[in-house]
Amino acid sequence: DASGGSKRTSRVRVAVRLRPYMDKQDEKGEGPCVRGLGSQKLEIINWRNATETLQYQFDVFHDEKTTQQEVFLSSVKPVLPHILKGQNASVFAYGPTGAGKTHTMLGSQEQPGVIPRAVREVFHLVRTEEKEQDDWEYSVGMSYLEIYNEKVLDLLSPGSQDLPIREDKDRNIIIPGLTHVPLSSFSDFDTHFIPASLNRTTASTKLNQRSSRSHAILLIKVVRSQRSPPRRQQTGKLYLVDLAGSEDNRRTGNQGIRLKESGAINLSLFTLSKVVDSLNTGVGGRVPYRDSKLTRLLQDSLGGSAHSVMITNIAPEYKYYFDTFTALNFAAKSRQI
Ligand code: ADP
Ligand code: MG
Repeated sequence: DASGGSKRTSRVRVAVRLRPYMDKQDEKGEGPCVRGLGSQKLEIINWRNATETLQYQFDVFHDEKTTQQEVFLSSVKPVLPHILKGQNASVFAYGPTGAGKTHTMLGSQEQPGVIPRAVREVFHLVRTEEKEQDDWEYSVGMSYLEIYNEKVLDLLSPGSQDLPIREDKDRNIIIPGLTHVPLSSFSDFDTHFIPASLNRTTASTKLNQRSSRSHAILLIKVVRSQRSPPRRQQTGKLYLVDLAGSEDNRRTGNQGIRLKESGAINLSLFTLSKVVDSLNTGVGGRVPYRDSKLTRLLQDSLGGSAHSVMITNIAPEYKYYFDTFTALNFAAKSRQI
């Protein structure tokens, strides 16, 4: 371990991705309110004084021309070899609804996102390892779940009940009862993942709304076993997370069930921001993982020896201005060392 066994926890790498300007998203024809300044910075119009801009800096800034492949290569591919060595990693897409989280994580047939690229690469790494050495054998599997209203739901077993989150004696986070599907290839993955994710994102308007209000969490697990004594076994976990929209739902006058959902979304995203802050500012003290289901679930894959990347997605149109502003302040704060 490169940290030499020290207790220091790893930072969360913060990337920001600006999606292209879309005319139809901009009823007033005002043009973009955000623009990139090189590979780490951007500026946004200052709402207090429109002749001024506010500037922000991150680990990486992906401008509107950045391809899916470039996002994958810069933000995700480097963490994948660690999964084969029994370490954990998490990649999550944060930002307001409409800013490109699902495009970044899932993408489309023509422009596949982080998820299909990462799974392909994991299989590639496993094949390469198995060819080049014969001490270890590998097995790959997946689970796919959703956190909705602070309930943990199994997306590979529709109609399932809220599942418990537990910690085993080695401090690994486990979810008893969650479906785990062994995978032998990328096409195996596709077979299980595509129907479940289509269900979630496009079935109906109602589900569409729900998809922006729940956190979709794909877990890829790689177990490696030593072929000869001492026959050690190690598990590496990779979480790929499409978070709920970060927009402030309280502003839009939601009531009843919507308001309850908003409360739950705000709780988990608010806690996530506190966890990331606390990891990245390294002030010490308690990291509030237990304050929400999302952070409790990610506890062993966020901070500690895990490799984590947050991709904050933003949109350039004025109608997103305040949500963009909030998301940028979160991302910029998370970057401070
Ligand atoms: P979110 O999941 O954050 O609500 P989406 O990923 O659904 O946002 O993106 C909203 C719309 O913008 C979709 O039509 C999507 O295809 C498009 N879009 C998002 N990011 C990009 C991008 N980088 N390039 C081209 N189109 C994009
Ligand atoms: Mg989405």
